[in-house]
Amino acid sequence: MRHIDRLSIPGILAEKKEEWQAKFEAKRVTSPSARPDSSKYGNLKIRERLEACSCGKCFYCESKLSDTQREIDHFVEVSIAPELAYEWTNLYLSCNNCNDKLSHSEISVEEALDPCRDSDTVIQENITFEDECICSQPGSRIGVKTIRKFRLNSNLLDLKRSKWLQKIMKEALAIRRCMIEEGRKEATKEEKYSLLRYTQPDQPYSLMSEVFLKKNFRHLFV
Ligand SMILES: [Zn+2]
Repeated sequence: MRHIDRLSIPGILAEKKEEWQAKFEAKRVTSPSARPDSSKYGNLKIRERLEACSCGKCFYCESKLSDTQREIDHFVEVSIAPELAYEWTNLYLSCNNCNDKLSHSEISVEEALDPCRDSDTVIQENITFEDECICSQPGSRIGVKTIRKFRLNSNLLDLKRSKWLQKIMKEALAIRRCMIEEGRKEATKEEKYSLLRYTQPDQPYSLMSEVFLKKNFRHLFV
């Protein structure tokens, strides 16, 4: 998870939100468990704006999402806050792992980190990584609950993160080999840049990559 700077509301949503919400409220009168229309909040322009906010990554786990994997999640569930069904600030881009989050009754969103509210510093004060495995910082209840709520420790995510780490490791070891062969004590500027690139927010699993590189290749950060 990384902090997400939310861009401005897409025009289509600003224009239609009240109309869509009114239709949804009317439907709820006869059918209280009705869902908002996903073809409306999932409008291409809305999805594209969300993708621009996170560089095409899931807001929660930082997986890069292909066209078929992009889901739009209501951060506060519709059953809890139907009035937020078409609220721009309640729409988050998600993968299906994280969209399948634990319900409000098990862990509410107030008990977990919110990538749109919490800064990178706050996120890192609460969650970290041991290689590809996500873990809470010592004593952080919010870290524990965030990991549980969004299933950030699922086997699927461990596998994806592990593959990504292998890619980074391969590159880092090639650089180290080159340094040894050339008798250098320091990586070149280009070599440092190519590894630090993995820590940038547009990259998948950038927080994990930062933790991993800081732990194993400390000299890159000085
Ligand atoms: Zn995800």
